Amino acid sequence: MAKVLIIGAGGVSRVVTKKCAMNSDVFSDITLASRTKSKCDLIAKEIKDALHVEVKTAQVDADHIDELVALIKSVKPDLVMNIALPYQDLTIMDACAACGVDYLDTANYEHPDTAKFEYKEQWARDDKFKKAGIMGLLGSGFDPGVTNVFCAYANQYLFDEIHYIDILDCNAGDHGYPFATNFNPEINLREVSANGRYWQRDENEKREWIETKPLEIKMVWDYPEVGKKDSYLMYHEEMESLSKNIKGLKRIRFFMTFGQSYLTHMKCLENVGILRIDEVEVDGVKVVPLHLLKELLPDPAGLGARTVGKTNIGCVIEGIKDGIKKKIYIYNVCDHQACYRETGAQAVSYTTGVPAMIGAKMILEKEWSGKGVFNMENFDAKPFMEELSKQGLPWKISDID
Ligand code: NDP
Repeated sequence: MAKVLIIGAGGVSRVVTKKCAMNSDVFSDITLASRTKSKCDLIAKEIKDALHVEVKTAQVDADHIDELVALIKSVKPDLVMNIALPYQDLTIMDACAACGVDYLDTANYEHPDTAKFEYKEQWARDDKFKKAGIMGLLGSGFDPGVTNVFCAYANQYLFDEIHYIDILDCNAGDHGYPFATNFNPEINLREVSANGRYWQRDENEKREWIETKPLEIKMVWDYPEVGKKDSYLMYHEEMESLSKNIKGLKRIRFFMTFGQSYLTHMKCLENVGILRIDEVEVDGVKVVPLHLLKELLPDPAGLGARTVGKTNIGCVIEGIKDGIKKKIYIYNVCDHQACYRETGAQAVSYTTGVPAMIGAKMILEKEWSGKGVFNMENFDAKPFMEELSKQGLPWKISDID
């Protein structure tokens, strides 16, 4: 029985809040707060109608620590779940440290003015969290999140040594729009249009990040239950922690699938300058072009009803077990319409929201505990893997010859 404060009321939060309400034996008291309170009220009403569970709502601007501290002091939660945007990670972490309350998020910190995300500033809060006697769990979504747990499970239970990891993210869903993103458009387009990067350690123990041009490296992967898809190398945040935490690793890469229509639209938008994140003046008004684009694009939270098809996200892991070479693909397949029937959301929100709830359950039930700031692979993967199967994200392992 625990009290949670969920911050943010977008597509992912709708799934997180519903899944918490569906596990009311653990999440017995839920408060949902965001910048726009009416969005919280809408989610609370959906939950009341469907599940007969009461969700309290509140307004907060999570860019301001004083507002967050006042809210946390009045709600008195056991855990704050940050399901807003990466821009709010540091303010919410600092408010949790000030109030002595555990913290969880799904995406690592990014400054609004620089399209670059890294764990540096969140890891730097480790001492502060230790002194406050609290735990911070970073990146409890699918990727990062479940992909870290898949790697940890392989490391802890399936391999003696892991040498190569390729994380594969395939969304083969079709929403019928010529162009839309499946989570927050601003965060998504900053990520996809950035340079690619992967990590390697050579035979002389030299550890390095190799940078590539955006989407320069492509491979075709045959995704179970989906089929062959073009998959493009990108930088993704879980590589930063996994390259440190999986001992013996020689290389880690991340690939994501994109359809031709998405790529053509994105290139065109980039070429005309609409992906710019600096201000331009239009008729005396200052505008960030990417903010304008976000307003024009479909809201990912509203794509659920019209998205059909499946996602397949997993990790190809290669290494040694009992002296013999071994290679596996460990993955989850999710059906967009099945997610919509259960939660009113498409599969990208669902695959992010369910692991956020499970991460919270791990903390609240003390399956995972500690003082300081942690990544998902720092804990025993087994209880999390068991919950994935129970909570709607079953996984499979196939051997690769
Ligand atoms: P949305 O844009 O749909 O929702 C974001 C929510 O945060 C909105 O309700 C927004 O409020 C609120 N918000 C923004 N700024 C503030 C603020 N200053 N104070 C309070 N609330 C604020 O995003 P998504 O639901 O698509 O994504 C949520 C998070 O999940 C993001 O961090 C994203 O990067 C992450 N994510 C992680 C994935 C993973 O696998 N790990 C995959 C996909 C997403 P308002 O309505 O007023 O704008």
